[in-house]
Amino acid sequence: MSETTYPDIKLFIGNAWMASQGGETYPIINPGTGDIIGKAAKANRHDLELAVANAVAGFAVWRDVSPYERSRILRRAADTLRQRRERIARLISLEMGKPLPEAAAEVNVAADTIEWFAEEGRRTYGRIVPSRSPTTEQMVVKSPVGPVAVFTPWNFPLNQAARKIAAALAAGCSVVAKPAEEAPGSVAELAAALMEAGLPSGVLNMVLGVPSDISEFLIAHPQIRKISFTGSTIVGKKLAAMAGAHMKRATMELGGHAPVLVFGDADPVAAATAMARAKFRNAGQVCISPTRFIVHRSIYEPFVDAFVGVAGSLTVGDSLAPGVDMGPLANARRLVAMEDLVRDAVEKGADLKIGGRRRGNVGYFFEPTVLADAPTNARAMNEEPFGPLALIRPFDSAGDAVAEANRLPYGLAAFAYTRSNDVVSLLRTRVEAGMLSINDNLLALPETPFGGVKDSGYGSEGGSEAMEAYLSTRLVKVTSEFEASF
Ligand code: NAD
Repeated sequence: MSETTYPDIKLFIGNAWMASQGGETYPIINPGTGDIIGKAAKANRHDLELAVANAVAGFAVWRDVSPYERSRILRRAADTLRQRRERIARLISLEMGKPLPEAAAEVNVAADTIEWFAEEGRRTYGRIVPSRSPTTEQMVVKSPVGPVAVFTPWNFPLNQAARKIAAALAAGCSVVAKPAEEAPGSVAELAAALMEAGLPSGVLNMVLGVPSDISEFLIAHPQIRKISFTGSTIVGKKLAAMAGAHMKRATMELGGHAPVLVFGDADPVAAATAMARAKFRNAGQVCISPTRFIVHRSIYEPFVDAFVGVAGSLTVGDSLAPGVDMGPLANARRLVAMEDLVRDAVEKGADLKIGGRRRGNVGYFFEPTVLADAPTNARAMNEEPFGPLALIRPFDSAGDAVAEANRLPYGLAAFAYTRSNDVVSLLRTRVEAGMLSINDNLLALPETPFGGVKDSGYGSEGGSEAMEAYLSTRLVKVTSEFEASF
């Protein structure tokens, strides 16, 4: 495959690649150029029906495959992804614009994630509850919930899918996956790796097309027993309502607006440098991206200066070119959103320190942007920017900082920098976030829970909690017939 070729993406149903039964396709666009680089099959109702039928047949086989054998298949697929890292990274970079080294790192993380769930699936222990009679046994057993539907976004197209698919497969569920329509290439590679590793037919199926048509069909389908969605809060609420109407279990990993509290005892330059690098990773298109920087007034200026220094040092450009720190935004929607949010914040009094504009007029590039003294009524201080936009504000008391951190309905990630144990204790109990990281910014490890509170959703995408989401806990009570003889 040459540097810029992109394969036509087909539906994957019953371990076979197929065109849509209606023959329809849609274009895949390179966000660095705006050019069409390939096409993907657009599923219709018959395709979706076929995918569910295959998932039902696949589940009947897969639930009886031992966790040990499931684990071997998953680990083989993880090895294959690592072997194909360069090729898969290139697909990710082409379809959604992250720099090639970040895309390669994503492939590694996806392989690690699959391996972790491969191991965790071997430990889906039940338990025995002591009974009130010597002739009765009470067993708590964990069973796979059944065929599940998973919906994943474009920002980490492979790893978001790997987290859901690996947890579901390790638990013994079958899957109908709907990757982001913009970036399906790496998920197709994952499906191929799993098939080559020995995954039985129908256990994983991949469909593409109009997201709302697919989610409405799958969530309502009586054979689908659980859904998992990663994406915006607004879409998540719609899907959660549908899941409720059809009594489907749901995991919702939704938007965030991560606050970063930098206290007066922290090193402002070290904190700003680490956080600016985290902010502009993947062009800020990360649900846990640090966004509202709430900085103690005593270190506000050096923090802002250091942050702006990092923003100004980043190389923005073609995601496949060496030495690039930030590629284009993933689609034209994000570009329009960034322009609107910056204009609104400046109109309301924010101090634009750097960036704030589209770069060039080809592709969807936007400059790393820093807005100081951002007023709380600016839209960007309330809506998830999901782009390379940092908003900084000073604070005077710890109480004010915590109040600002908790002001929004979001509650996904939060960060803080401090050396004080008292402050750590305050934050641990008072900050309303599913994940709080103090003096560090690494949150998405396969072995730790990953999820939000409030409007950021419910359920976990990491740790043993993520496996539980694909398991039903059931009681089996057995009483011996021979009670009299004992
Ligand atoms: P969007 O809401 O249009 O789409 C986000 C994702 O949801 C896409 O992958 C899309 O395929 C899917 N989607 C949309 N409508 C759906 C439906 N009815 N049924 C099933 N899936 C559906 O937003 P966008 O413009 O693509 O992305 C920007 C917003 O999305 C951001 O503001 C952010 O909140 C959110 N987002 C979040 C994450 C995350 O990791 N939590 C990832 C990507 C996008």
